[in-house]
Order: sequence, then C-alpha cells, then structure tokens
Amino acid sequence: MTTDPEISLWTKTSCERVDAPPLTGPVTVDLAVIGGGYTGCSAALHAAQSGASVCLLEALEIGHGGSGRNVGLANAGLWLPPAEIRAHLGREAGDRLIALLAQAPAEVFRLIRDHAIDCEPVQAGTLHLAHSPKGLRDLQTRHQQLSADGAPVELLSAQETAGRTGSTAFHGAIFDPRAGTIQPLAFVQGLARAAQQAGAAIHASCPVQALHHDGDTWHLATPQGSVRAKALIQATNAYHAGLPDTRQDYVPVYYFQYATDPLPEDIRATLLPGGEGCWDTGLIMTSFRMDQAGRLVIGAMGDLGHAGSFVHRGWITRKLAQTYPALADQPLKDGWHGRIAMTSDHIPKLVQIGPSALSAHGYSGRGIGPGTVFGRMMADSLLSGDPARLPLPPVPEHSESWTGLRRAYFETGATLTHLVKARV
Ligand SMILES: Cc1cc2nc3c(=O)[nH]c(=O)nc-3n(C[C@H](O)[C@H](O)[C@H](O)COP(=O)(O)OP(=O)(O)OC[C@H]3O[C@@H](n4cnc5c(N)ncnc54)[C@H](O)[C@@H]3O)c2cc1C
Repeated sequence: MTTDPEISLWTKTSCERVDAPPLTGPVTVDLAVIGGGYTGCSAALHAAQSGASVCLLEALEIGHGGSGRNVGLANAGLWLPPAEIRAHLGREAGDRLIALLAQAPAEVFRLIRDHAIDCEPVQAGTLHLAHSPKGLRDLQTRHQQLSADGAPVELLSAQETAGRTGSTAFHGAIFDPRAGTIQPLAFVQGLARAAQQAGAAIHASCPVQALHHDGDTWHLATPQGSVRAKALIQATNAYHAGLPDTRQDYVPVYYFQYATDPLPEDIRATLLPGGEGCWDTGLIMTSFRMDQAGRLVIGAMGDLGHAGSFVHRGWITRKLAQTYPALADQPLKDGWHGRIAMTSDHIPKLVQIGPSALSAHGYSGRGIGPGTVFGRMMADSLLSGDPARLPLPPVPEHSESWTGLRRAYFETGATLTHLVKARV
C-alpha cells in the first residue's frame, strides 16, 4: 500500500476542472467569500446568480479541504436523529433545520443536473448499517423518529441488507432513498466552475492573510491583491488557516479511506448492486461505497499521518476481508485522510463574525448537503439583509473546551479499537 494522506483518489479521477488564477490587484464587490469548499462555492454561485458581484478566495486549490476528501455520501439531515436536533435547538429552530436538510440531497442533485457537473452522481439512496444488535436498536429508534417526520426511510432486515450490500456482516439497515453518492471533489470543482460561469470571480492559490472592517466595508488582503466588500462569508471549516481573529473552535477528527482497483465485473455485480453508499453504527464508524470505475472505497475514523497509523491500515484490510471475503486478496491503494470539524452537540454553527459577516463550521462529518444549503442561505441572507433567511440563528462566537485533548481521545480510541479488534 502506498500512501500520501494528502492526495486522495478523487484528485486522480475528477473530470471537472476550474481555472482559478490568484487575485492580482484591488477589487470591490458586494460579497467576499473565504474558502473554496461546498459552503463557499455554493454561496458564490447563488450570489452571482442573484446578480451580486462576488469574489471567492481559496488559499490552495478548490476542494483542498473536506470537500475534496470526503466519502461522497450526499445524505439527508444531520448525524443526529430528529429528537436530538430538537432537544438542542428547540422545537421551532429544530423543525426548520430538519425540514431544510431533508431537502439537501435533492438540492445537490439538482445543482449537478442544472450545471451538468461531471461528478459520478448516483441517487440510489444510502444504507445506514447495523454493525451489532445494539446498532440495530439504535436504527429502530432512528427509523421511528424519521418516519414520524415523514421521511421515506425503510428499515431492512438482516437478510434484505445482505441482498443490498452483498455482505452477511450486518444485522439490518435503514435505507434512505433521498440520498446518494457523488465524486466529492468533482462536485465542488463543478460548483466553482458554475459560479464562475454565473459571473463570480474565483481565485485559488490565494490565502486571505488579513481581514478588517472599517466603516461599512470589509477589507481582505491576499499576497498580490485586495478586496473591499459590503458583506463577508468565511467558509473555512476544519481547514481554517491564518486569520486568528475569526478562527472558530471545533474538535478535529481524522477519517481515512482506501480504494481497491476497479473490480472484475463478476465480483462487482454482487457488491452493492443497487449503487447505495453505506456507513455503519460503530462508534468508530466504517463507510464503504463504489465509485464509477468499480473501485470499492472503504473508510474509517483515524489519522494516517502518525507513526501508529499502520494499525489503521492493517485493520481496514481485515475489515474489508471480513465484510467481503471475495475481496480478501484485493490490494488497497490510494490511502488518504481528511479532517472533520466536530462540535460537541454535532450541530453546525453559524457565527456572526462582524457586521454583515458570517462564518459557518462544525458540520461534524455531514457537510455535502448542509454546506451546499448553508452557503446558499448565508449569501441570500447577507445580500437581502434578512437574518430570517438563515438556516439557523447565528451566535456571536462558538467555543469548545479541551479540543486538543478530545482530538487525542478520538484518535487514541480509533487506534485502540483498530488494534484490539484484530479479528473484527
Ligand atoms: C474524510 C472525510 C469524510 C467525510 N465524509 C462526508 C460524507 O460522506 N458526507 C458528507 O456530507 N460530509 C462528509 N464529510 C464532511 C464534509 O466533507 C465537510 O463538512 C464539507 O466538505 C465542509 O465544506 P466547507 O466548504 O465548509 O469546508 P472545506 O471544504 O473544508 O473548505 C474550506 C476551504 O477553506 C480554505 N481556507 C482556509 N483558510 C483560508 C484562508 N485564510 N484564505 C482562503 N482560503 C482558506 C481551505 O483551503 C479549504 O479549501 C467528510 C469530511 C471528511 C474530512
């Protein structure tokens, strides 16, 4: 297995490209956006479509952050079941967020169609898999709550799950037909390309190094340029760099993935024949999905960037063989990882970082749909001056305690789980 954890399979297979030279010189716009992931690109696209002038600045490449490294499960809702969302946010705000995010996959797949984004879209649903009898009980509760909210989800038996996945390793599953899979990096590159075509200025290799507000104008400085803007969106999530005054707290949690080579047709036909994307109920969870070329992409919590990361590699190889004995001899390639911005309550945060300025972060591993929706709604709210158009009430700041310790807790937990469960 060869691994550069910063280079994903998705960088090698993306068919979308966006030409985004760095900003040179001064510009003045209605809206400045910092960060070229789903949140920033969706904000830029919707702002440009509404007729506003918009300039997006990305420190490295479009999709450098979580948007270019994730599993590609475009899910409805958050990780939390509806009752927990309402318990954290209250009835009114909870109902509103649940309803908005139920529609998130439909928005993602509509954008893909409308802008002909070449990102391997498969809207065949997702399977949340029970890895144990306790996991199945958790799924039964989730199913009850989701169904009560009108979500068209199905609870599958172990036998039905085996038919869908091609594996007998699971005790049951929730099937959610609203969801699906995408090539995550190609989706964000396509969003940036669509934003550009709608009139947004998109600049990569262009870190925002300084930021201040003066009178009614935001001033942003980049190595070779500067932006004056009436409104500002900071969409840097777990990859925030520089700009200490507007940095928001989160617990960084690493998640890694490996891919097989494209599988022979006879094996491929037996694995996920319906094309669903999957993740399980394990506390240190595992995910798997097929890509368009027929590679099985499998992932789990863990950081590939430290000396003990061989434990994660060994474990995922055994996990693959246990889940799919026919793949026991398939080499796993292209290992990579990414950083998730987790919040204590697993609910994303909108922070009012100044006048006419918002930051969104903390999608807690569920950002394809939510980032796309939040970006659009933040742009809409700032350009209209109407805070009621936001998906969530903004807070003045967000802090988390013991972030370093909690990061170590997650990584140590993942390493120990992967070490101890030698036979999964
Ligand atoms: C391994 C992994 C698996 C995941 N799996 C899923 C999944 O299957 N489904 C799902 O829905 N979600 C998943 N997520 C979460 C999802 O990827 C993120 O929530 C989402 O990509 C966040 O998008 P974003 O646009 O807010 O931030 P990002 O995509 O992280 O973009 C932030 C950008 O800001 C840029 N930036 C930072 N500082 C500056 C600066 N000073 N100037 C200019 N630019 C700057 C960074 O370079 C980066 O490109 C996963 C995340 C990871 C890491």
